[in-house]
Amino acid sequence: MREKLTNPEDVRTWPGTIPVEYVYTAGVAGEAYLRAIKERGCLAASTCPDCNIDYLPPRLYCERCFAKTDEPRDVAARGVVETFTVAHRDLDGRPLEPPVIYAFVRIAGTAGGLIHRLGDVEPGDVHIGLEVEAVFRPPAERVGSILDIEHFKPVG
Ligand SMILES: [Zn+2]
Repeated sequence: MREKLTNPEDVRTWPGTIPVEYVYTAGVAGEAYLRAIKERGCLAASTCPDCNIDYLPPRLYCERCFAKTDEPRDVAARGVVETFTVAHRDLDGRPLEPPVIYAFVRIAGTAGGLIHRLGDVEPGDVHIGLEVEAVFRPPAERVGSILDIEHFKPVG
């Protein structure tokens, strides 16, 4: 059965499921990043020997000059809040109590960072430039995921 729909309001849906199987691979540099989190409770970065840029997450090749970067090295999971938002509702519109704070954390000594939750802080106390550090799950509970970091909290 074929029909050409010319009016988008005529689009119909058929509820059901489509079985999809996949395997996610983090890649060589991504694996180094996730192993650092799981096995050593830190982050990993790589450096371009020509541009001297520290990539976090690590890259195999420099995004600017395409040179092969150095081997990933461990860096402390701390940095500063570069921007943040406070979510008062979840993706389905249900109220979040307490609200969830999401931030982009620029990792110290690198050109990179990551988006993660902030914890152990009230929304009104968060500001750009706030120094934060990662709170990791206990080593036995880590699975090699960015969620092995429970959240970032203010330093001190
Ligand atoms: Zn470079």
